[in-house]
Amino acid sequence: TYVVTDNCIMCKYTDCVEVCPVDCFYEGENTLVIHPDECIDCGVCEPECPADAIRPDTEPDMDQWVEFNRKYSEIW
Ligand code: SF4
Repeated sequence: TYVVTDNCIMCKYTDCVEVCPVDCFYEGENTLVIHPDECIDCGVCEPECPADAIRPDTEPDMDQWVEFNRKYSEIW
């Protein structure tokens, strides 16, 4: 799955939301988040993010971000 990380804070771009084929972006408190169970791992959003905030969860130390994305995508 892909996850939104801290570069997204206060970012107002929604290019990622527009390209996601499964609409798995949700609004968090001050970031967007990706629902980790709905993301199909297509990777289309990553190059669209002007803040470089979208990372694959296979990178090191992503566990906290997976939890962050899950938490805020399930609140609403
Ligand atoms: Fe959506 Fe694909 Fe990005 Fe996952 S990787 S959030 S499915 S655009």
